[in-house]
Formats: sequence, C-alpha cells, structure tokens
Amino acid sequence: MNNNGKVLIIGAGGVGRVVVHKCAQNPGVFTEICLASRTLSKCQDIQRELSRPIQVARVDADNVSELAALIKDFKPQLVINVALPYQDLTIMDACLETGVDYLDTANYEPRDEARFCYKWQWDYQERFKKAGLMALLGCGFDPGVTNIYCAYAQKHHFDEIHTIDIIDCNAGDHGLPFATNFNPEINIREVTAKGRYYENGQWKETEPLTVHKTFDFPGSIGPKEIYLMYHEELESLAKNIKGVKRIRFWMTFSESYLTHLRVLENVGMTRIDPVQYQGQEIIPLQFLKAVLPEPASLGPKTRGKTCIGCLIEGIKDGRRKRYYVYNICDHQEAYRETNSQAISYTTGVPAMIGGMLMLEEEWHQPGVFNVEEFDPDPFMKKLSQHGLPWTETFMDTDND
Ligand code: NDP
Repeated sequence: MNNNGKVLIIGAGGVGRVVVHKCAQNPGVFTEICLASRTLSKCQDIQRELSRPIQVARVDADNVSELAALIKDFKPQLVINVALPYQDLTIMDACLETGVDYLDTANYEPRDEARFCYKWQWDYQERFKKAGLMALLGCGFDPGVTNIYCAYAQKHHFDEIHTIDIIDCNAGDHGLPFATNFNPEINIREVTAKGRYYENGQWKETEPLTVHKTFDFPGSIGPKEIYLMYHEELESLAKNIKGVKRIRFWMTFSESYLTHLRVLENVGMTRIDPVQYQGQEIIPLQFLKAVLPEPASLGPKTRGKTCIGCLIEGIKDGRRKRYYVYNICDHQEAYRETNSQAISYTTGVPAMIGGMLMLEEEWHQPGVFNVEEFDPDPFMKKLSQHGLPWTETFMDTDND
C-alpha cells in the first residue's frame, strides 16, 4: 500500500459530485483525484466545475478486472465508492486485488432482492485484515454521521444507552409532484420494504410505512409526520452500541410523495422482478427510474432544509437523560457550494471526511469496519469544519 494521498472516486452521480468538490477543496490531503463512472461525460461535467485539475475515466464497476486495471494505472491510496450498492463487492474485490483501502456510503444489495444486510461485506473481514487493508462501510449521513452521533453520545454523555431513534427529515421542496432526492431505484426499494426495528435483542417487523407519529423539528421546520422504516445502520448499531435496548429509524414523507408512491405500487411500477414487454424483459422499477427526474437535476429547484439527528435516552450518573443531536442543512447553500442539493451534500461531506481520516491515518486499522467502531471525536470536529455543524440538546428526564 502506498501513502501518496491519491483518491479514486467511483460514481459521478449526486453524491459523487459533492465528494469530488469537497476533496478538491482539501489538496493538502487529497493530493490527486480521479473520478470514474459508467458515463464519462458525467465525470467531465463535474471536472469542468472545479478550479483544480482532476483526472476522469470510464469504468464499469460491475467488472473487477476493469476496476483493477484502472486502480493499477492511477495507483490511488484510497477508493471512495459512491456508485450504487450493487457495486460494493466488485469494488472491494478490486481493492483487495490491487492493495488499496476502500470506503463506501451504502451497504451491498443484490439487484434482484431488496435486502439491506451487512453480512456480505462483513464477510470480507479476514481478507482485508490479512492484506493489511481497511474498508470503512456506510460513511455517508445515515448511515454514517448518525452512527458517529451514537458513538459520541456513548463516549461523552451516557453510562448506559437504552433507546436510539434516528430521525431523518427532508423539509425541502423541489416543486415537482414526484421525484426522489437520491437514486430513485435505491430510494423506492428502501421505502417500499417492510419496516423493521430492534427491541430487546429481537428484530420486529411492521408493514411498510404503517407506523407513524408527529415529531416537532428544530429550527424553522416545526412539526412533521415521521414514518418508521428499516435502515441499514440499525444492524451495525445493534451490534456496536453496548446494552442498547431499542433502535428505530424514522423518516418524513409528504402526503403527495406517499400518494404517488401508493399508486405506483398498486399498478406494479415498483416491482423489481422482470416482466415481458414487447418481446423483451424489463424491470418495472428500472423503467420508472428512467422516466423520473435525475436527482442531480433537482439541485437548482430545491428550497428548504434537511434535519437529520439522533434522539437518545439512557442513564448518566444514575439519572435518566434524553439527548438530541442533529444537523440542519440548507438545500440552496449546499447547491451554491457544490452544485448539489442537501441530500447529496449531507452524504458526500462525511464520505470526504472519512477518507481524510483514513489518509491521515487518524482512523486506520486493517479489517472491515463501521464508522461507530472508531473514535468519534475527530470526525465530529471535522463535521463542523467542513459544512455539517451539529447542535445538541440535553434533558434530565428523571422528573418526567
Ligand atoms: P446516482 O444515481 O445519482 O449516482 C450513482 C452513480 O453511479 C451514477 O453516476 C452511475 O453512473 C454510477 N454507476 C452506477 N452503476 C455503475 C457501474 N456499474 N459502473 C460505474 N458507475 C456506475 O446516486 P447517488 O449519487 O444519489 O447515490 C450514490 C450512492 O450513495 C448510492 O449507493 C446511495 O445508496 C448512497 N447514498 C447514501 C446515503 C447515506 O446517507 N449513507 C444517502 C444517499 C445516497 P451512470 O449515471 O453513468 O449510470
């Protein structure tokens, strides 16, 4: 493994654009950047936005030998994978073959089964360890910063954590009747899946989007309906936050979004199994993606803010305590800085920070890790420095 500070970023979508912009802002750490994706012109569009030169390349990240050839040619110290979850394993294989560290923001999913599960990637533990390489998984916002918030709460604010509620609100408005803020295929697979949460050592399932309640968000956002969903960080947090009794994940949706989604589901457009159409096989959800707006095109249209945070309860010094830590991100400010809206921004900034900590060897260990397994302090410090400041509130709940 070399220590040259070169980074290869794979995936020139909404998140990729932010990662490239943020790495380019830090030349002292990211000495050279190469952006590679399936469509070269998308890499070139991003390349033109930057004041600093970067390399671009076309690569099919489903193909290990193509990836390995690109890595051998560019010789990066780190590969940041912000393509799609389907490519995680091929990119990890290519990193192992070429001796390079790996980072991603979403866990592997097979194309034909909407199932979020870390097992496939945790199974690489021994191979990465043996090779002396590090793989950092889920280093976006959720998963990513939400896991770091939990690790930070555990380190500084609690003797025992009892419950964690991760609450993700997008109070932004793009003015379109229906569009998703990140890859539509991945987004719709996620929200149409059954809800699932962890309680007293067991996983409990709920029908999709049936459990909901109102949550009063800080800032100018105010009360919104939040819906219980499964989200991948629940799996690693249930394992890594010692003694936790319950972890749930909630997300806001507008009435318009839910109505459109219900119709699309009812007519079969969210199916991920192949159907015959005019003599060829198509997958309805992939066809739907082709007709929906590209998430990247929503950037200039989106107004408003996101608020993602963790509401944590437990015990400190014998007293019951409630702690809420969150970030508020403004869509238009994110767009002004990186030509991307806040959903991509809040994912891309933590990916850059994770990469920075790995290159600086502040976070470096051979093996496969989730972010909450490292010291959260340097990450929390960098969040404030690089555009995602956080706020915390405390409540002593002994008298509730
Ligand atoms: P986009 O669809 O905008 O971008 C994905 C990019 O990956 C596209 O440019 C696409 O290229 C490229 N790509 C897809 N398949 C391949 C392939 N086989 N080879 C090379 N390139 C490929 O998605 P986003 O930017 O919104 O999301 C990127 C990742 O970030 C996803 O994994 C998503 O799940 C994750 N994410 C994580 C979040 C978090 O908080 N942890 C939040 C939001 C997203 P092309 O356009 O040419 O097809």
